[in-house]
Amino acid sequence: MIKINENYHKLQASYLFSDIAKRVAAHQASNPQQTIIKLGIGDVTRALPAACIKAFHAAVDEMANDCSFRGYGPEQGYDFLREAIAREDYQARGTNIEADEIFVSDGAKCDSGNFQEIFSTDITVAIPDPVYPVYVDTNVMAGRTGEARDSRYEGLVYLDGNKQNGFIPDLPNEPVDLIYLCFPNNPTGAMASKEQLQKWVDFARENKALILYDAAYEAFVQDQTLPRSIYQITGAREVAIEFRSFSKTAGFTGTRCAFTVVPKECMAYTGGGDKVPVHSLWNRRHTTKFNSVSYPVQRTAQAVYSPEGKGQVKELISYYLNNAKHIRQQMESLGYECIGGENSPYIWIDGRTDSWEFFDRLLNKAGVVCTPGAGFGKCGEGYIRISAFNSLENVQQAMVRIRKAL
Ligand code: PLP
Repeated sequence: MIKINENYHKLQASYLFSDIAKRVAAHQASNPQQTIIKLGIGDVTRALPAACIKAFHAAVDEMANDCSFRGYGPEQGYDFLREAIAREDYQARGTNIEADEIFVSDGAKCDSGNFQEIFSTDITVAIPDPVYPVYVDTNVMAGRTGEARDSRYEGLVYLDGNKQNGFIPDLPNEPVDLIYLCFPNNPTGAMASKEQLQKWVDFARENKALILYDAAYEAFVQDQTLPRSIYQITGAREVAIEFRSFSKTAGFTGTRCAFTVVPKECMAYTGGGDKVPVHSLWNRRHTTKFNSVSYPVQRTAQAVYSPEGKGQVKELISYYLNNAKHIRQQMESLGYECIGGENSPYIWIDGRTDSWEFFDRLLNKAGVVCTPGAGFGKCGEGYIRISAFNSLENVQQAMVRIRKAL
């Protein structure tokens, strides 16, 4: 008899996006003439940069010719892309990351979800709240938690984000083994300083723990004093893995390309306390279960680092950040306390009421869709997230409508 992985039964169904879709459909049915403006889901809306499209076409043409056709590539990614990433994203910014420490993949969602698999199921895991839900759910699936009670799983250490700590969680009061951090944060848009990250790196070194640092939104960091990589922090090469993605940086959500950095100094331990390089574990896992990203897509990602590509990506990021600035200014002028939107595409707003109540008010009175904060964890209750991923015209119109409605 085929038996299920019982851990899947512990998963609390996530009704967030289906609930949103149902409410939006009901509103649209009773207001067929109204155009609804969606500032909810975190998906980009603008086309790939021209330099990327050019490289994409050229690589597809290569595939059309027997002489330049490519079959299976290296599982870790082609050297041309790994070298461009190491040079441009790290070495050029003064951080010491080598090309063979980069693992190219088809998404930071898969990488941040899969990485836990190389560690024991009896480790203690610390996860921020609110945060991108993938970290919690993949640890539930792996059997690292008990049942959910009052929207929290037994056995996980939750790192509370709140107004007091500016949604930058404090260190836990107990030793933990695996720590997830996400900056700029989804959903709050909060960004940790170097000093704040240094505390986490020091804590991980003291506890022989490992940090999984999700920097999917690093391209939005504008403040030069803030870290764009965990490797700008002293000692991070020993205790931190970094996830990055071209999704939000260069509009690759539908094209799919990302990468994970695994420094050779990072160690995990056997039951007997012997050191094992995390790099060799991840390399084994990655080469066994993954056959890399298509050649044309890797050429497309490489074009992000060309002089034209860099300029076009900068323009894309500025465009969304300009939207974010407008949303934040408008919400603040209406008297709402906001976080984010300066170094991230998300604005996190204290609605001073139940998350869903505020969501309904924006939908029913303004025809604008946001995301209720409660969907990202217990600490998100009372907040909403507004995303800057839309056209400037739609964002401006949405804010005019919200202003009238509130
Ligand atoms: N990490 C965070 C924090 C995200 O918010 C998202 C997507 O919204 C991802 C990762 C997924 O990135 P990718 O498109 O590379 O899978």
